[in-house]
Amino acid sequence: MKLILLGAPGSGKGTQAAYITDKYDLPHISTGDLFRENIKNKTPLGIKVKEIMDTGNLCPDDLTVELVKDRLNNPDCKNGYLLDGFPRDIPQAIALDEFAAPDVVIEIDVDLNKIEHRITGRRSCPKCGGSFHVDFIGNVDKCPTCGDKLIIRKDDNPETVKERLEVYQNQTAPLIEYYGKQGKLVKVNGDQPIEKVFEEVVKVLG
Ligand code: ADP
Ligand code: AMP
Repeated sequence: MKLILLGAPGSGKGTQAAYITDKYDLPHISTGDLFRENIKNKTPLGIKVKEIMDTGNLCPDDLTVELVKDRLNNPDCKNGYLLDGFPRDIPQAIALDEFAAPDVVIEIDVDLNKIEHRITGRRSCPKCGGSFHVDFIGNVDKCPTCGDKLIIRKDDNPETVKERLEVYQNQTAPLIEYYGKQGKLVKVNGDQPIEKVFEEVVKVLG
């Protein structure tokens, strides 16, 4: 199965991806995580995109598409993928259609007024990719899943959130219509408890 999770930043894509990979054994590919890994390792790509990511803008399409193309060549993708955060604009979607078109696109629909709260309370684990919220885990600094140190992402601040939401509305939201026209889009209500959202996802995936 080739699956895309679409939704605003903070809509719960990473959270649902963890549940989905567990049940459906698909490789979770988050372009945000891939970029952050490159930044951490100070690779030429990481150096190129660091400033862009810090401000909440999109990294260049050509670099992003190459990154995904490369990752999808890994043997773990032979039976499909779970893409989280890609594609993020129409040119990326057109490129993906040329080398690995998705079967289904799940849109996690969330009231955009709730996004700032979700993102500013997010705690992330760079080691296992876990995403948590202080509302649920409190102000702890150890990852509930793997025990490593939780961090606050550099772009998870109120100023950058505003920019990222604008980018979402202008560049990413048009993908809803793009995949709708292809008959591949299914919307789930992301404004409910994590387990309930996952129940809806399971209804879609079977
Ligand atoms: P994304 O990957 O779409 O950017 P995340 O999965 O990292 O979003 O979720 C963003 C924040 O919202 C995290 O702190 C996460 O714990 C929290 N969150 C995710 N799903 C829900 C939900 N259904 N209800 C409330 N909070 C949620
Ligand atoms: P995310 O982890 O999905 O919230 O992404 C964090 C940041 O990484 C975004 O704000 C962008 O700067 C960059 N990024 C992630 N995915 C993409 C993409 N598909 N295209 C361009 N930039 C991306």
